[in-house]
Amino acid sequence: MKEQEIQAIQQLLSTPKKIAIIPHRSPDGDAMGSTLGLYHFLLKNNHQPVVVSPNEFPDFLAWMPGSETVKIFEKDKKNCTKVLEEADLVFTLDFNALHRVGEMENVLNKLTVPFVMIDHHQSPDDYAVVTYSDTAFGSTCEMLHNFICFLGKKSDIDKTIGTCIYTGILTDSGSFRFPKTTGTTHRIIADLIDLGVENTEIPTLLYDNSSYGRLQLLGKALQNMQVLANHKTAYTTLTQEELDFFNHVKGDTEGIVNYGLSIKGIVFTAIFIENAEEKIIKISFRSQGDFDVNLFAREHFNGGGHRNAAGGKSELSMEDTVNKFEDLVNKLKI
Ligand code: 5GP
Ligand code: MN
Repeated sequence: MKEQEIQAIQQLLSTPKKIAIIPHRSPDGDAMGSTLGLYHFLLKNNHQPVVVSPNEFPDFLAWMPGSETVKIFEKDKKNCTKVLEEADLVFTLDFNALHRVGEMENVLNKLTVPFVMIDHHQSPDDYAVVTYSDTAFGSTCEMLHNFICFLGKKSDIDKTIGTCIYTGILTDSGSFRFPKTTGTTHRIIADLIDLGVENTEIPTLLYDNSSYGRLQLLGKALQNMQVLANHKTAYTTLTQEELDFFNHVKGDTEGIVNYGLSIKGIVFTAIFIENAEEKIIKISFRSQGDFDVNLFAREHFNGGGHRNAAGGKSELSMEDTVNKFEDLVNKLKI
């Protein structure tokens, strides 16, 4: 962050304020970690923060400190709109464009108070008075850590704030293995562990809490997997019928996309998940190395993300979506 930006934030935070903090729709560990980490930091600094999530967050994040205070826009539009309209300041975390909050965008567009963005996605939109955006970082949580340090408040980072930051760094780095994980990332993690952050308990809470149905759903997705070996690509599908059969709940499909990359030689993978209610196929893309799934998602599937992890959607049927994908892959040189 530039000195001028730091001063602008210090000025904004110099008197107690009502502050709305917003993650992207369907928040993941980094979105929840960064918004809740900021929530605890602002609370400590005498502000009145509220995290307003566009929709429900997954069960496997429900243990996070402060998650019980999170307001869910889709469940309570009236009250959430009021909270947003009464805010003196708005932070948007872990996303780069207001359409990533879904329907809540209409409310945000009408607000006249300053916005601050902290994010690590490409091509940030220009709606904030301060845009701390840098694709060099593996997580928004690592940036939140730096943000607090830039404000000269490193000593405010306690076990609670640290737990939130740890969670986002852990989940967005694929447990510290994605390429943007640096020595600095590990030094931050080391400091957090020294503060008492439970570095063995958190992965257990996040990853060892599957239902039997979730494992069976994973089994189904693995059975459905197709390998296009000539193009170093694997993909899988889950239809609404399959999701219903295994009593799917939000969060159950998280991470399944990565299994494609665990096949030797595969560097591009995708999962297509039918959402009958929204009448779309939601897609996740992952790659290893140079193949840019952000570009692929942007160009062909109305989405975006990062070079090695992106998402998109299709309004075609599952069959047509998969055919479109295969046609595109057949033209790719991976
Ligand atoms: P996931 O596949 O885990 O849902 O998302 C992977 C990455 O791509 C995340 O950084 C997420 O924010 C981004 N992403 C997922 N879906 C979309 C989408 O529809 N549009 C855009 N622009 N980004 C997405
Ligand atoms: Mn993130």
